[in-house]
Amino acid sequence: MNSSLNPKRTVAELKELRALTSDKNGAQRVAFTPTWIKARDWLKKKLSELPVETHTDAAGNFWATLRGESERSLLIGGHIDSVPNGGWLDGCLNVIAGVEILRRINSQNNSKPPITIRLVDWADEEGARFGKSLFGSSACSGNLNLDEARGLKDKNGITLPDALKEFGVDFERVKDSGKELKNAAAYLELHIEQGPVLLDLDLPLGAVLGTFGVERHAITFHGQAAHSGSTPMNRRKDAFLAAAKMSLDIYKIAERSKGGDCTIGSCTTKPGIVTSVVEECRITLDQRHLDSAALAKMLAEAKTASEKFASEGNVKVSWERLWQIEPVLFDKNLIQLCTDSISETCGKVHRLPSGPLHDASEVARAGVPTVMMFVQSLHGISHNKIEDTKEEHLELCVTAFDKLAEKTINWVKANS
Ligand SMILES: [Zn+2]
Repeated sequence: MNSSLNPKRTVAELKELRALTSDKNGAQRVAFTPTWIKARDWLKKKLSELPVETHTDAAGNFWATLRGESERSLLIGGHIDSVPNGGWLDGCLNVIAGVEILRRINSQNNSKPPITIRLVDWADEEGARFGKSLFGSSACSGNLNLDEARGLKDKNGITLPDALKEFGVDFERVKDSGKELKNAAAYLELHIEQGPVLLDLDLPLGAVLGTFGVERHAITFHGQAAHSGSTPMNRRKDAFLAAAKMSLDIYKIAERSKGGDCTIGSCTTKPGIVTSVVEECRITLDQRHLDSAALAKMLAEAKTASEKFASEGNVKVSWERLWQIEPVLFDKNLIQLCTDSISETCGKVHRLPSGPLHDASEVARAGVPTVMMFVQSLHGISHNKIEDTKEEHLELCVTAFDKLAEKTINWVKANS
């Protein structure tokens, strides 16, 4: 067996999987569907050439374990599932690159690496069928809300527990998956960036600092409906005017936060007719930052702004929280190893946060030292059949990710 890494084989295998599980509209590997099973069977066949133990855990996550001298484990994780009409790289890049890295580690260490190496294919990262992202990894981390997930239905009215049963997974026991993390010493995930940051910097690879925290609110301004012809401008209680002034301010708040994002994604008005001053205006605000103090400050500033514009316009304002998650910071040591691996592979490196959540966020929340590596996305687009990355960049990312795996093995050894 060839003992060196073969990144070209990863690109060829990505194309093989694409040919097997895509149609003219893109990838169709939606979790808990026959095409997903087909993709996993293909993966199992690739792994059968290696001396690995494989099993599916209580949450439907698939594990391949190459036992080492020590039970301390390096986990390499990704997801072979896709959204409907998805791209050819989102999720499966890591799984397939992981197989190549297992091959390299296995042959260089005569099937007995110094620590145990485990490849995990998380179940239903995308949440495409039931609207619940990170299903398998959040069951494993213990963060999955069972009461919320139990009632989820797909568009045909099939509940998540019933769909899982068909694939041999008992919904009430999915959190037993947590025992898989028992000896986990580090977790690595390679992913396409899905955004335009590396593309705009003309860099192939980036080290990921963590995933953004999110604050999501609905803000309602309450004024008074009045006839648009008979009500003088200075006598109005215009709920829309306050919301409109607020929308300008959120750009300033985001700019002051140094790295945060604020988005007013929707605006609805009542009575919503052309001849009336707006009585009620409801906007939604989505705020994201990697730093929790900065996120809290953005939220406080938005509240202050809403109150200021409400009182200026003689209207009232109320806030309702829709959703919230803390920022998840990756491990400082592993971020450094990731940075070193990238600069050794292609010279230049950029460190960036991730806007989207990933399975890595769940593993990090479970307390396992974690880092992600991003490879540039062409067009800055994913969840679309046009999702793409240059083949030379795909090869570079496999090389750099393999270096990161080797450095992490040494780091785990040195710390155990
Ligand atoms: Zn993904």
